This record gives sequence, C-alpha cells and structure tokens, in this order.
Amino acid sequence: MQGTGVGMSEIQTVGVLGAGTMGNGIAHVFARSGFAVRLCEVEQRFLDRGLETIRKNLGREAEKSKITTDEAEAALARIAGTLDRASLAECDFIVEAATERFEIKREIFRDLERIARPEVILASNTSSISITKLAAQTQRPDRVIGMHFFNPVPMMKLVEVIRGLATAQSTFDMVKALGEKLGKTPVEVNDAPGFVSNRVLMPLLNEAMYAVMEGVATAEAVDEVFKLGMAHPMGPLTLADFIGLDVCLDIMRVLHDGLGDPKYRPCPLLIRMVDAGWLGKKSGRGFYSY
Ligand code: NAD
Repeated sequence: MQGTGVGMSEIQTVGVLGAGTMGNGIAHVFARSGFAVRLCEVEQRFLDRGLETIRKNLGREAEKSKITTDEAEAALARIAGTLDRASLAECDFIVEAATERFEIKREIFRDLERIARPEVILASNTSSISITKLAAQTQRPDRVIGMHFFNPVPMMKLVEVIRGLATAQSTFDMVKALGEKLGKTPVEVNDAPGFVSNRVLMPLLNEAMYAVMEGVATAEAVDEVFKLGMAHPMGPLTLADFIGLDVCLDIMRVLHDGLGDPKYRPCPLLIRMVDAGWLGKKSGRGFYSY
C-alpha cells in the first residue's frame, strides 16, 4: 500500500488540531490558500481565542493590502471550529499542533488512525518529538510526517519537512508541494531530536542564559551583541521570552535526553525561572518584563 496516499488535487479539507499559537497560524495559512479548514480544540474558550486571533491577523493583512478585505472574509469563512475530533473524518490532510507533550500527541495519533481515512496523511507540527515514534502509533507510518512551521506562521517562510524512518517518498513529495502551495519554502530534514532548527537554535539560547547566570553580561547586553554584531533581528533572550521559557526548557530536555551529550544540559537559571512561573512574554515576565 506504500505510496498510494491522497494526491494534491484531492486535498480540499484540512484538519488542524490545536488552535494555540501555532495551530491558529496554520489554520490561517491553509484557509488563505483556499483550503477548507476544520480547526479542532479541547475547550470552547481555546477555540474562540484561536478564531479571534485568526480574524484579527487576517484583518491586519487586509489593512496592509497584502490581501483584499473580501479575501480575508472568505478565508475566515473557510474555517470551521469544532470540539468534536470525529468530525475530522472528512479531512483529506491533517496537521496536529497540540501541546508539546508526547502523551498528548500519542493519544491524538492513535485516535486519528481510527478517524481519518487510511490514505490520509497525518502531519505533526512538533518542535522536537520523534516523528518515527508518532508514526509508530498508527497503522500508516508511511503516511506520517513532520510539517514544522515557524512562529508567526503567516509571516515565516520556512517549513521543515521531517521524514520519519518509515515516511514514504510520496508522502514527502505531497507535503513539500503542499508547503509550496502555502507560499512557504520547505526544507528537507531527517528525524533527529530537535530536527535542525531547534538542535542549533536552542543551545544558542541556553548558552546565552548561562552567560547571564554567570554574570558575563546582562540580558540586554547579550541581546545587543547578537543584534548589532550578528545582525539577528532579535537577541537570544528576547527570542527565548517570545518562544516561552517553558517551551525552551522542554526542548532542551528532549535534546539532552535524545542526544545524551552534557552540552545540551538545560541552564539552571532557565529551570528556576520556569519553576517561578516566569515563562516570558506570555506570563508577563521572563528575561524582560511585559
Ligand atoms: P499552545 O500552548 O499555544 O497551543 C496548544 C493548543 O493545543 C492549546 O490551545 C491546547 O488547548 C490544544 N490542545 C491540547 N490538547 C489537544 C488535543 N488533544 N486536541 C486538540 N487541541 C489540543 O502551543 P503552540 O506553541 O501552538 O505549540 C503547538 C505545537 O507546535 C507544539 O508541538 C510545539 O512544539 C509546536 N511548535 C511551536 C512553536 C512556537 O514557537 N510556539 C514553533 C514551532 C512548533
């Protein structure tokens, strides 16, 4: 059965699980590219918040004349929110963008195996969890793949397309073509902890935290070095606050556990800040106050 998945032209309805930071952005870009979207959440308030964010962001794109007001309205009308996962049975392609916990994603993939038609490709937007392990929860590991978008999804060009050990070439080709249809640039990556983006980025952020912890420089000074000296649009500590310090810690732990090298040890200051509930921008306090 390998390689007999849904063809690009047959993809009309896309399922997105999770309407958080990434899920609402993913729903936004699929809808803007003409796909019907089923956005599935666990609670009405999260769904409402996600749909409201999409409405605002589409409105902003219309204000900036990136799209017309009619296009923004049409895109919004193509998104149907749901709390009923079973309704994803109609979808021709599904992207999971739920909370970054293996147990949550394992349950989702096992359930999607039951709900989605056998030929449907199941993608995960995970930042660090093994695609091979998620694929093994299903009877279609050849049709499971990583489709890793970047925040904010409507603006960032990159999508890492991650092959699990069993991912079929036809699955990879389809997801690459789909990424291009969304106006993104897909980059091929193999399944390894943190893929490429977080394998390289997170140790940089973690090391910047060590520099602050050891009193080498203030957070502001570290960020200035990277902005002015390396032309980064944002310094590493501002970026860590923006990503969420809890997310950074989870990813460092995946790198540390998965690669076994002490160079990936999470910075103790990061651990303390997460323990204190200082999660960065989303909690109002991180390396900076918001
Ligand atoms: P988030 O916390 O903003 O949103 C996660 C959402 O998933 C929440 O609204 C939650 O209610 C929902 N959810 C939890 N369990 C669910 C389920 N069973 N079904 C449907 N929805 C469920 O998190 P996020 O930042 O959007 O991250 C989502 C995924 O995207 C994670 O795998 C993360 O690693 C990945 N990711 C995040 C970023 C980033 O910059 N934040 C970048 C790339 C990838």
